[in-house]
Amino acid sequence: MYNVKSAKAEEFISHQEVEDTLKYADENKNNLELIDEILNKARKEKGLTHREASVLLACENEEKNKEIFELANKIKNDFYGNRIVLFAPLYLSNYCVNGCIYCPYHHQNKHIPRKKMTQEEIKREVIALQDMGHKRIAVESGEDPVNNPIEYILNSIKTIYSIHHKNGAIRRVNVNIAATTVENYKKLHEAGIGTYILFQETYHKESYEKLHPTGPKHNYAYHTEAMDRAMQGGIDDVGLGVLFGLEMYKYEFAALLMHAEHLEAVYGVGPHTISVPRIKKADDIDPSTFDNGISDEIFYKLIACIRIAVPYTGMIISTRESKEVRERALHLGISQVSGGSKTSVGGYDSSIDEDEAEESAQFDVSDRRTLDEVIKWLIDTGFVPSFCTACYREGRTGDRFMEICKNKQILNCCHPNALITLKEYLEDYAKPETKEAGSRKIQEELGRIENNAVKNKTEEYLKEIEKGARDFRF
Ligand code: SAM
Repeated sequence: MYNVKSAKAEEFISHQEVEDTLKYADENKNNLELIDEILNKARKEKGLTHREASVLLACENEEKNKEIFELANKIKNDFYGNRIVLFAPLYLSNYCVNGCIYCPYHHQNKHIPRKKMTQEEIKREVIALQDMGHKRIAVESGEDPVNNPIEYILNSIKTIYSIHHKNGAIRRVNVNIAATTVENYKKLHEAGIGTYILFQETYHKESYEKLHPTGPKHNYAYHTEAMDRAMQGGIDDVGLGVLFGLEMYKYEFAALLMHAEHLEAVYGVGPHTISVPRIKKADDIDPSTFDNGISDEIFYKLIACIRIAVPYTGMIISTRESKEVRERALHLGISQVSGGSKTSVGGYDSSIDEDEAEESAQFDVSDRRTLDEVIKWLIDTGFVPSFCTACYREGRTGDRFMEICKNKQILNCCHPNALITLKEYLEDYAKPETKEAGSRKIQEELGRIENNAVKNKTEEYLKEIEKGARDFRF
C-alpha cells in the first residue's frame, strides 16, 4: 500500500507505514549500535529517511540526545550559517466556511468579529509593515469562496507588491491559504508569490476528519494532495507544517518526513520550508482540551530531528512561541522567524483601535516584542538578521535553489545578501542602539567573507546604501 511516488494521499502517507515506523523506532530506541550508525549517516549531512529519523526521535539515551542536538546545530550552521531570515504574517480576512475545531475562525464562532480588508486597508497595513522594516510577508486568510475568492487574494497580492512607501518594499509575498485547484495555483504562481504554505494540521486521517468536521477542508485527500497540485501549477517552493498538539507527535513527525520524501521523489524537490506551530489559546479555543500537547523539551527534540532529516529545508518558528523557546530553537535548526507579528485582520495599522483589532486575532502571540527588539536580540545572540529575498527574485527556486543549497553554495550569496539587507534596515528603520550593534556586526561578518571579489563588491554595496541606494543583491 505504501508508495512514495503515488498521487494518492493515503498511499504516500500510508497509515500502515507510519505505524510500522513507530513500532520500528520504539523497538530500537535503546539500540545504541543502530543509533550510532544513523548518527554517522546523518553526519554526512545528506539527510535521513523517515524510519531512521524516527529512531533518533524515539531515542531516550541522554548522551545520544546530546549528540543529536549538537549535530542539528552543526548542520544548521553548515547550510545556513548564522543568518536568520525575518518575515511577518498579514491577515487579509478571517471569514471562513470551515469548521476546524482548534481555530477561532471556524464558521460556528458567532462572536468573533469578522473582517475582510479592502485594498485601501491592505495598503495601510503594508505601509505599516514597511515602516517597521519588513520586506517579506506571509499572506493569511480564512477559506471562503464568496468572501475571499482567489481573485480577492490575487488582487491583494498585486496591491502589496505595488506599494513603495519611503524606501520600503515588500519583495516576497508568501501565501498561506486553503488547498485549492491547479488552475488557482497557476494564478498564484503568475502573481509572483514566493512560497505556498499549507499546514497539514495532522497527517492522521481519522483525527483529521474529526478535527475538520465540516467545510471543504474536511476532505483529507484534497488537503494532503494540495502540494502536488501546487507543484503542477508551477509553484516549486512549498512550505509544509503540522499543528503540534492535535495528534501524537511521533506520528506527525514520521508522516511529515514521508510527505517531504514524496515531493522529492515525484518532483525532484523537497519542501522549501517546514513550520513547527504549536496550538495556542485563542478566542473560543482552549489548548488544554487537546490531549497531545508537547513539552518544550520534546519540541526542541522535534526541531533538531527535522533539521537532521532534511538539512536543505528552511525551518520557521513564529511568535506563537516565547522569546526563550525561540532562542533555544535558533540553535537547533530554525532559519526563519517572524517579528512584530499581529495575527488580527488590520492589526498593524495604528489608526485602528488595538483592542478592537485584537478581537479578530487568530491566536495569542507569545513573543510580543517589536521587530526592532527582535533584530537587536538576534544580533546580541550572535545571529545576522536577514531581509534577503534574492533567491526567488533571481529565479533560484525549487530544484535550482535545492541544488545550490545541497552544495552549500548558498553561503556565497546568502551571507553578503544578509549583510546588505541588514544595512538597509539599519539605515532606514533601526533604533540608535540597534544601528550601533548592527553596524559592528556587519564589520565583523565582512571579515568572514573568504572570496575577495565578493567581499569588495559587498563593501561597495554597503557604501552605496549609505548614500541612499537600495535593493542590491548577489
Ligand atoms: N485558512 C488556511 C488553511 O486552512 O490552511 C490557512 C491560514 S490559517 C490562517 C494558518 C494556520 O494557523 C492554520 O493552518 C493552523 O495550523 C494555524 N492555527 C489555527 N488555529 C490555531 C491555534 N489556535 N493556535 C495555533 N495555530 C493555529
